[in-house]
Amino acid sequence: RRLEAQANAAAPCHMAGGERIEVFANLGSRADAEVAVANGAEGCGLLRTEFLFLERETAPSLAEQTAEYQAIADALGGRSLIVRLLDIGGDKPAPYLPIPAEENPALGLRGIRVGFAHPQLLEDQIRAILRVQPIGQCRIMVPMIASIDELRRVREVVDRVRAELGIADPVSVGVMIETPAAAVTADLLAREADFLSVGTNDLTQYALAMDRGNPAVAGAIDGLHPAVLRMIAETCRGAARHDRWTGVCGGLASDLLAVPILVGLGVTELSATAALVPEIKALVASLSMDACRAHAAAALQCGSAAEVRILAREFRA
Ligand code: PEP
Ligand code: MG
Repeated sequence: RRLEAQANAAAPCHMAGGERIEVFANLGSRADAEVAVANGAEGCGLLRTEFLFLERETAPSLAEQTAEYQAIADALGGRSLIVRLLDIGGDKPAPYLPIPAEENPALGLRGIRVGFAHPQLLEDQIRAILRVQPIGQCRIMVPMIASIDELRRVREVVDRVRAELGIADPVSVGVMIETPAAAVTADLLAREADFLSVGTNDLTQYALAMDRGNPAVAGAIDGLHPAVLRMIAETCRGAARHDRWTGVCGGLASDLLAVPILVGLGVTELSATAALVPEIKALVASLSMDACRAHAAAALQCGSAAEVRILAREFRA
């Protein structure tokens, strides 16, 4: 399987029956982009822009941001680049962005909430992304959405900056599904979002009420919990109602046991760790949609993540 995967490294990924599944990579630096392309990634489904903002005394300038995003877009050679707006918070502090000490940073000022608290920072980042050429290669993704007005506020900034830069074409703006609120209202979000991408790391933490950074519970956190899978199913249904696609950019997309279930639930884009892209493409190519759908339906009826894992191992065997 591995050899076959390498031979077809650059080919677009299709299931055994021909259904198209995009296999993208998550990037956290410029260097990652080259590895992703070498591994056959079809694009980037999550650029974590934090690397540009953390461990420094001042925010990156507009010019610096544009140069970095442009370099990554160039390294991807025209492939789609989904840039996530800054996602930092009390747990990942930047000295120039004072966030008061919080009792529950995971429930506090983080994700897009930080952007709204620092509007100039948000606007500068959006401007830097919109300056990347060619227009349209970059798409914007909003982290930690809990309701539609947050998407509208971002869209307003995007449209204002777009007008200012004289960009006539619409810019694709998608939402991350990381809160239970977003998952269960996915149909409402999909009316206005261009795409939905599930951040299973956070969605799992919030669905199970288990802090992903707390070693006392981290071992029990598993995105294959039926509660999380049901939220992903709901997300896919809501997105499909408005002809939007659903991706997964959280850790579950890099879990080979999870991939057939995700595809069976209706996920059509997987954004994984670059190193795993060849294996994921080979796995997807071997899967039939009917089998994945039946497998996913069975997973939704399991009582725990452990049961889902047993089922997933049997499916693979
Ligand atoms: C996630 O929450 O699944 C995600 C992709 O974002 P991060 O891991 O950067 O919080
Ligand atoms: Mg997240």
